[in-house]
Amino acid sequence: MRVALVTGASRGIGRAIALDLASRGFDLLVAARGESALRELGREIGQRTGRTAHIAVVDMGHLESADVILSILKERYDRLDVLVNNAGIALSKPFGEYCAADWERTMNINARAPFFLTQKCLPQLLEAKPGYVINICSVVSKKGYPEQSVYSASKHALLGLTKSIAKEISAFGIRVHAVLPGAVDTDMVRGVRPDIDAGELISPSEVASVVGALIEMGGNAVIDEVEIRRKSKPPWA
Ligand code: NAD
Repeated sequence: MRVALVTGASRGIGRAIALDLASRGFDLLVAARGESALRELGREIGQRTGRTAHIAVVDMGHLESADVILSILKERYDRLDVLVNNAGIALSKPFGEYCAADWERTMNINARAPFFLTQKCLPQLLEAKPGYVINICSVVSKKGYPEQSVYSASKHALLGLTKSIAKEISAFGIRVHAVLPGAVDTDMVRGVRPDIDAGELISPSEVASVVGALIEMGGNAVIDEVEIRRKSKPPWA
């Protein structure tokens, strides 16, 4: 049995990753706020793949969410092979209109939650040999976008902590990866970038297949980060 934990799995990219990992033979713990969407995902995973999916209904903006997830993980499986830190939120507004609550909520969900969840999951990941940590960053982990100052800061933070964690724990057999997608066809992008032609968006399953490819690599080669751009964007832009 191999077990994967995916946060923000109730819809969008996280849901696609959970389904993809189940199809690769993983049992799942899926976390998000929406209980009914998680239960529906669990049913779909069972029907499509025969794998088990337990759920953790948590708000990752709360520091205690990592403890709640870990206690469910220990109770249900007591092992972890793959941690996918995917849950995230994005805001779009002029720099001058952001308030402290916007900053705190975005940083807490997008950067603090992956930091502490990874820390709490370390003992299980160390046992996995190899364990995998996949952090869903963004193209804005490396660049800025107008009206996305807080989101971009949080995704720069996530990439920074990914690199530092990788340097520290790869020596213990844990493979740490950053995935940096461009615009993906989900509720999030429809909210913050309605200007992008829907026909040009990356599909969530395309991101999921990249994550799947990373966790199939257990040999001597490691890909630290993957940037995924829309076909309509210029290469290396
Ligand atoms: P989405 O809004 O469709 O889904 C976000 C998921 O995170 C949902 O399951 C939601 O319930 C969960 N989530 C949000 N806040 C939460 C909280 N406080 N507690 C628990 N769960 C919470 O978004 P998506 O596009 O699927 O985004 C998934 C990840 O991919 C995010 O980290 C996002 O920043 C990143 N990303 C998205 C795009 C894009 O274009 N859609 C591009 C690059 C990176």
